[in-house]
Parts: sequence; C-alpha cells; structure tokens
Amino acid sequence: MSDRRTTEGAATAPSSSPDRLAATLALDEAVTRVRLVSPARAKAFELLGVRTVRDLVTHFPRRYIDLSSRETVASAAIGQQCTIQGTVHEIKLKRPKPRLTLVEMTLTDGTGTLMVTAFRQPWLMDSLSAGMQVAVAGKLEFNYGFKRMTNPFIEAVEGDAAGGGMIFPVHPATEKLSAAWIRRLVGNGLAQVAGLYDPLPLELRAKYRLMSRGAALSAIHFPQSMDEVAEARRRLVYEELLFLELMLMEEGRARTHGRVPVSHVVDGPCVAALAAVLPFDLTEEQQAAKRDILGVLAAPQAANHLLLGDVGTGKTVVAAFALAAAADTGSQALLMAPTEVLARQHGQSLGPLFDAAGITWDVLTGSTAPADREAILARVSAAEVDVLIGTHALLEDDVVPAKCTLAVIDEQQRFGVDQRAKLLAKGEAPDALYLTATPIPRSLALALFGNLTLSYIRHRPHDASRRTTKVHTKQDRGHAYDAALAALGRGEQVYVVCPLIGASSEDRDEKAGKRAAREGDEDEYVYAAISIEGDDDLACDNVAAAEKEAAFLQHKTFSAYQVELLHGRMPGTEKQDVMQRFRDGETQVLVATTIIEVGVDVPNATVMIIEDADRFGLSQLHQLRGRVGRGSLPGEVYLISASRTEAALKRLSAMETTDDGYELAAYDLSLRREGDILGNRQHGASALKLVNVVRDGKIIEAAYADALALLEEDPKLEAPAHRALAREARLAFKRAATVQGG
Ligand code: ADP
Ligand code: MG
Repeated sequence: MSDRRTTEGAATAPSSSPDRLAATLALDEAVTRVRLVSPARAKAFELLGVRTVRDLVTHFPRRYIDLSSRETVASAAIGQQCTIQGTVHEIKLKRPKPRLTLVEMTLTDGTGTLMVTAFRQPWLMDSLSAGMQVAVAGKLEFNYGFKRMTNPFIEAVEGDAAGGGMIFPVHPATEKLSAAWIRRLVGNGLAQVAGLYDPLPLELRAKYRLMSRGAALSAIHFPQSMDEVAEARRRLVYEELLFLELMLMEEGRARTHGRVPVSHVVDGPCVAALAAVLPFDLTEEQQAAKRDILGVLAAPQAANHLLLGDVGTGKTVVAAFALAAAADTGSQALLMAPTEVLARQHGQSLGPLFDAAGITWDVLTGSTAPADREAILARVSAAEVDVLIGTHALLEDDVVPAKCTLAVIDEQQRFGVDQRAKLLAKGEAPDALYLTATPIPRSLALALFGNLTLSYIRHRPHDASRRTTKVHTKQDRGHAYDAALAALGRGEQVYVVCPLIGASSEDRDEKAGKRAAREGDEDEYVYAAISIEGDDDLACDNVAAAEKEAAFLQHKTFSAYQVELLHGRMPGTEKQDVMQRFRDGETQVLVATTIIEVGVDVPNATVMIIEDADRFGLSQLHQLRGRVGRGSLPGEVYLISASRTEAALKRLSAMETTDDGYELAAYDLSLRREGDILGNRQHGASALKLVNVVRDGKIIEAAYADALALLEEDPKLEAPAHRALAREARLAFKRAATVQGG
C-alpha cells in the first residue's frame, strides 16, 4: 500500500521538460532499469512478454478488486462475490497430505466470523498474523455452520485504510512472480516514466475529452474508483487503435508507393466463359460480391478487398471471377491457400471450370516433385500460366511470375503480415483479395487492415438450417457414434475430429482449476490450447495416439466400414491420397486432426463428431462443423466435451442454439477471447492489449476516421504536433515491423 502512494505522487508530480523527455525515452529501456527488477525477476517477466519499461507499464490488470464497497460477514450474501474486511483471529498452516498445504484463517468483523481457506499458498504465513486487518474478496460459501471463502484474494490493509482509493489491481501473474509483486514493480515502472509526453495531438485529446497518457497509465493500474478505470481505459484504447490505424495506412501506402497499379479488364471472354460453365447460378449475395470485386479490380488503384463469408457460403467461386479477370487482362494471378489439402482441392474444383473457360492454371505445393516444379516455374515465368494455385510454396524466391496483377489469399487469417507482404511483392502493385470465414465485424476488419473494401456473404447456397448440433459429455458420447453408424447405413460419410493433444482431460480440469484458484477467478478456464495454424497441428508424440484412435475406431466402432486417418504430419502426397479416397467414397470414416478445418468440401459427409470439443474456440468449432450439411443432405454435429466444468458446457451449448458464425464470434468475444478471432498471427492483435472489438466498435471507427484525416493533412506526420505520434505508432508496433522486414 505504501508503495502505491509514493508512485501516485511521483506520477503526477510536475516535471521540467528535460525530465519529461527522459521519462518518455525511458519507455523503451530494458525492464531491468526499473527499481527492484532483478535479473531473476526480469526473466520471470519475460514469460509474460514483458521486456521493456513500456511492456511493464502496459502490462494491464486483468481485473480489479474493489475494497471500497465492502460488506460485513453478516450482510454478505451466500453464493455471491464480495469483499469483506476483518481482523485475523487465528491463522494456521495445515498439511492434510504430504504435498498439500493449506492456510486456514478465521476472520472477525464484529458482525460475525468468516472462515478462509487458501490452498497451496504457504507464504501467506509470512505476511499475515493474528490481530492484523485484512480484506478478502471472493465467492461466499456456507458449510459446516460457517460462512467461508476458498482461495480468495487476500490483502493486508493498514489501520486507517478504510477511506477511498481501495481498488486493487490484479495483474496477470506467474508462479515466479506474484500479482502482489507485479503490482509493486508496475508502480516502480510508472515512477520511472512519470511526466512522460503525451503523443496524442491536443485537438484529439480535447475532441474526445481524453486523459493524458501519464494520468491514464497511473489510473489504469492504481485507480481511485472504477469510473477512473473506465476513463483511463477509454484513453488507452483510443491510443492503441489510432497507432494501429496509422501503421496500417502507412503499410498500405508503402506497398504501392511509386508503382503503377493495373486496371483489370473485367468484361473479357474468360470472365464470360466462366459464368457460362458454372454448374449452378450464383446466389444474389455472391453476385453482389462478384460485382464489388470486379469493380475494385477495374479501378486504377491497388485494391485491398476482403471477402467475408461464413463457411460454405461459396467464396471460392466468387474469387474465381477475379482470377478470370486477370487472365482477360493478359496478366497473372496467384491463389494461396494455407494447406496442401486445400490448395489441391481448389485445383480440383476450379481446374475443370478454368479449362472450360480457356484459363491456364497450375498447382504448386511443398510436395510438388522437383521436375514438375521446374516445369511449372518455367511456365509461370514465361507467362504461360494465368493462374497459379498453391500453398506457402508460392512465397519461395524462385516463384517469379512474368506479370502478376492479382494475389488472392484464401483463409487469410492463417497467414501472417509478412507472408501477405511477400506474396504481394510478386507483382508490381497487385490487387489483393482476401477471403476469410472468420466472421469479423466491419469495424474490426477496418482495424485489422486499415484501408480496405469489404464484401459480405451471409447465407449459404444450400439451406444450412438443416444442420443440428448437440453437446455430449464423454459419458454419453454413445449417442454420437450411434448417429454416425446410422448415417453410414444410409451410405453417407462421417468425420471424427480428434485433437489428441496429450494431457488428459482430468489433468486439464485440475490445472484450470488451480489456475483459477491462484488468480481468484472461478469463471476463468482455459480452452483453445490447441493451435490450429496450418499443418503442424500435432506434436510428434501424438501421431501415435492418433493412429491408435483410428485403429480403435476401425476395429471396434466402425468395423463394417473403411476408416482412415488424416493428420498434419503426413507427407503431402499421402494427405492427398487419403482425401481423394474419402472424396471418392472409398473410405467412409475420416479420422482427422484439425487439418480438415479449412475449406474441405465433401458433400456426402453428413455427420461430424468432435472429441474434446471444449479445447476449441467457438469460431474454430463453427468452421469445423461447416464441413457437414454442405450438400443437399442435412448434417449432424456432435460436440463431445472432455471437461465437465459448467463454464465449458455452457460455452459449448451456444453452438447448439445458433448456427450464425457472427453471433458465435461475438459470444466468444464477449468472453474476452479476442485472440481466438484475430488469430495469433495478426500483428494487430499482439499490440492491441486493451481493445475489445465488440465493446469498442465505436472507438475503432473513430480512430480509423481520425487516422485518415491526420494522414490527409500531413501524410508523413512531419508537423511538430505529429512527430511524437508518428514515433509512438512506430514503437508500439516495432516487433511486428521487424517480422515484416524479415
Ligand atoms: P467457402 O465459402 O467455405 O470457401 P466453398 O467456396 O468451398 O465455400 O463452397 C462450398 C460449396 O458450395 C462448394 O461445393 C461449392 O461448389 C458450392 N457452391 C458455391 N456456390 C454455389 C451456388 N451458388 N449454388 C450451389 N452450390 C454452390
Ligand atoms: Mg473456402
């Protein structure tokens, strides 16, 4: 407590200009410059991503404990979160099992007695003793005749502390560095940068009545009231977003600076022929998206267009028209997909249409044989190929198109900025078309891409309402397998998705529980521990587990059918063969790790069983289930939860009630899992520490408009009033920029 007061004093003390400059520069010094940050603590900070003073002072609290609104033991309601202050009557360390310690404390406040139990925190004995005043915050329970709290937040309070300023920040912590220590070190960090300059131009601060940067940083860590937190947050969110927008706009400008973009021919013979050979009519939304896209391709600017459409809405064929326009223009287009399976599938579905429309094409992936590769590269360089479809293999230096004017990136959320930039560098100033099934609101799309145009496809060509989703626990997953057998009996096919990520579910529940206990947050629980980022979806040692699971299903559950396994560690050619046999109906059950998520299209597959579904984000699950109910047959999806925690089941049940990807994304976001939506490779995501894209939609739009206006007035941000802004925007995204350069 005493620490925190001195910090506040220092942060608001008036300083002369040289001090202010020094304070500003201190942001980018190593965190070890902060008082009490020893090398060992710096190492622990490293795990939290904190390396510089800037990282430290932007290591924001994840929640607050408001000791200013306290209740008494008598008044506090059972089952509620509450804060109670009292005197320690007795405190004891117990050891019920050899490796289990617990601290038991009796607290009295004149209205009653509260029993407090803290598991695995023996160090509490060092800081607390009978007679001390402490405040505890947590969920109130009642059993064995007493009101109790288990693993509450515990804070010793000074005798006179009953006044204001009783809000405690709870920072993300680790085992090596407790929340209490972090609080103290953040305070020291703030002292180091006290008096720092505010990079926001005065007029913008005035326009939105924003706090100064220094005040906001102090207030978000050590607020006097929750209102102050909200104000500080508002200021810092705006700042994060303005920096992001400026940086993205700059990136966009750099891409085309001094280059000549192409106006594509969009009413040529290839486009017309493609329309004529399509086996179906485009839906109205597809037609609208096609019009939008051809419109931006025809314009003499380098287009940046994002096509957003839920899984199965038919984005591929819309993109095909853009590819055809490049062919009509006499130039070339690249279509990059994140996995081998998907790139091959594009070749198979688009290839025949292209052939019929007189568009030449090739597919290039990591497993293309060397001789074939040579030949393809030669044709591409000689402008004999209109459309080159491929994976990351397209990014190789020796892929040199003669004249590339269009780059299409499918499932763009799978790619990093650097990869995006590298593909675009294959042409002079090519138009860019991004496809994504990750449903992001318009405001977020703007935030992530800066300047861009958008088209949405909201409905699938086939009625997807005929897809049902059910959640089961492991105990009654028999229902799911019965449904699968019934579908197989009707001649349909089945996916079984097994993330198989090692640690057993019991382990995980226990870990999540411990973590929640440590952080005093019972609703917290961890999912999305699996990364679904490209082909490396399985750790090596799990390949054996996946094989075992597939063998088990083949011999026991589905013995009358052909079962095959598909996983990310397989050689590319083998993956293609497995997919091909499934597509051809030779195998009826595909046991897969998550690589089937992206774009795979087998209309006869109608049942999907997802094991350990609680490990996935809702958007990921939604993408996965988009593989069934695609054709004219209804789909059934079974989500098997390995976890029986209420939070896990509740979250999954959202999948039962809505089939709308946008709604699910919003729900995931409301649980504050932005990372799941943004994908951890978007540089935007990593530098956005406070922004919540649902809640902050209005601020995103404001920052976007302000950034546009600023750059219009001062394109390089050279005016004295803008220099600090330019510098800060650069620094905030420095790490991302390094990646991009590499
Ligand atoms: P996604 O948007 O998820 O990438 P795809 O482009 O893979 O979806 O399309 C899903 C399926 O819908 C494909 O089999 C495709 O041929 C089919 N499809 C696309 N548009 C139409 C349409 N207008 N009418 C009927 N089927 C369509
Ligand atoms: Mg697709």
